[in-house]
Amino acid sequence: MPLSPIAEQLRLKCKLQVSGRIVFETAWRIGTGREGQSSDLGVLLDAAGQPILPGSSIKGKLRNTCEALASALNLRACLLNVEASGVKCTSDVRWYSDSRSSYQKVLRIGDVQEQLHWIEQNTCDVCKLFGSPVQAARLRCSDGTLDNPSAAAVRVRDGVVLDRDSHTAVDGLKYDYETVAAGTAFRVCFDLDNPAPKDEALFGAALFEWAAGSSLGGFTSRGLGRFRLEDIEIRGVDFDNPKERVQYLTRPKAEEKLNDRGDWQLYFQKKIEEVLNAVSAGGQ
Ligand SMILES: [Zn+2]
Repeated sequence: MPLSPIAEQLRLKCKLQVSGRIVFETAWRIGTGREGQSSDLGVLLDAAGQPILPGSSIKGKLRNTCEALASALNLRACLLNVEASGVKCTSDVRWYSDSRSSYQKVLRIGDVQEQLHWIEQNTCDVCKLFGSPVQAARLRCSDGTLDNPSAAAVRVRDGVVLDRDSHTAVDGLKYDYETVAAGTAFRVCFDLDNPAPKDEALFGAALFEWAAGSSLGGFTSRGLGRFRLEDIEIRGVDFDNPKERVQYLTRPKAEEKLNDRGDWQLYFQKKIEEVLNAVSAGGQ
């Protein structure tokens, strides 16, 4: 019996997993917003005193990168602000509260295709990947796993309070802040469930950007937080492929469940070209 449209939409059809290493080329900091052990502004540390790179920080940065690249791929980004971006999206709280009645009207009619169409029309391409109030995120980011604890020393730096107009130091207003040393590396993992071609193109373009170098965390305008994403590997499962489906369901080890998808650059280059070609052929 064929699945209903909503069951088909929710069915897990494929998974893609991307792993890599975020390697900081400069000192960096993800602050606590509180005093540190020996400074005015601490960095986020675990119970053992090792620096933490939370998945939420990685995801936030990835979202920024995707927002910046969306227009180059002819994709829509609401920037969480419909008024500023001109792109309708349920993730803008104010716009959604004004438009909720039109969604509820569609829900009341009870036509699933209509509901899916409404969500499709009123969710931008970035929020389809990162999630919105009406749709779960297709992308998950792990917390970073510290790869080289011996390199991750916390140091204290001096800062001065600058006068915004004259850009000169304000007499007597000094503070210090903690950073973590350059060379710190974290293993990270991204999971995508049922990614659409546009999701993979957008995410892939962000990977190319990060491989070339980007910045993450606080005080990036002072040169902190430069990083590269290295050692990128992609693996996946296609549940419509009987062999891959059985492999996924019967292997007890996580690393044996998914199949190597080959060179990440070739894989995502193809996805990006497909999306650009579909757009230029009018096949939005
Ligand atoms: Zn959006």
